[in-house]
Amino acid sequence: MTTALITGANRGLGLETAKQLAARGWHVILACRELSRAREAAATIEGATARRLDLGDPASIAALAREAIEIDVLINNAAIAMRGFDAEVARQTIAVNLLGTLAVTDALAPRVRDGGAIVMVSSGMGELSVLGNPARERVARAATIDEVRALADELVAAVANGTHERGGWPSSAYSVSKALLNASTRVLAQTFAARKIRVNAVCPGWVRTDLGGRSAPRDIPTGARSIVAAVLEPRATGGFFRDGAPIAW
Ligand code: NDP
Repeated sequence: MTTALITGANRGLGLETAKQLAARGWHVILACRELSRAREAAATIEGATARRLDLGDPASIAALAREAIEIDVLINNAAIAMRGFDAEVARQTIAVNLLGTLAVTDALAPRVRDGGAIVMVSSGMGELSVLGNPARERVARAATIDEVRALADELVAAVANGTHERGGWPSSAYSVSKALLNASTRVLAQTFAARKIRVNAVCPGWVRTDLGGRSAPRDIPTGARSIVAAVLEPRATGGFFRDGAPIAW
């Protein structure tokens, strides 16, 4: 049976992605910040299992990585979008959306079978076009995860001292976290090529979830179908997709 581990699967797009994959006969592991919520969600999906995983808690990541689970697809879906914009918002957003996702990927990659896949749930708000120069060129060129991390540190420091706009950074920590997640996707696709693990990013479109808000044009099943299409993508690696079609970084 094919197994997917989905982070942030107790509500929104993560939960619906789990339901759509389970409907295809997949075993889904719902990895959620609160174990009780993971269990409640798993009870609504046949054969689903629940695990605790908080992207901001390295101990919870390490504990999950120690379990003898075999994963075909790791779906990094969990993320936050905070109100406002200051250094603390930038720090927390980067900590969860970028560094937390990278920590989960690093810890669980040994559990992903060779020939499997890692899917980063990203956003069109992280397209390179949201960045000004020199940030845009530097993010586009980042060739290692250390470079991506250094850019993230730089953003937080620049927001704190009020120089981020000069560096080409937009006043949206969420956008930057996703642009750097996309940069990580390009790097990790190369890192895992030797194990034939495909690494792709996907945008679900603008969806009516707690994060997307009520004005979003898409319903949750439509957004999740975009994620599932990336999960089922048979060949590509190092790509960015929406609704099963490649989109520009
Ligand atoms: P929701 O706010 O509905 O759900 C977010 C999920 O992430 C929740 O399960 C939440 O858990 C979990 N989460 C947040 N922080 C952590 C953490 N530290 N550790 C573990 N889990 C955490 O968001 P969506 O379903 O809309 O978003 C899912 C993904 O889709 C995100 O990556 C988002 O950026 C992306 N996306 C969404 C768009 C939209 O319009 N909705 C557009 C583009 C991209 P808890 O319930 O415990 O808070």
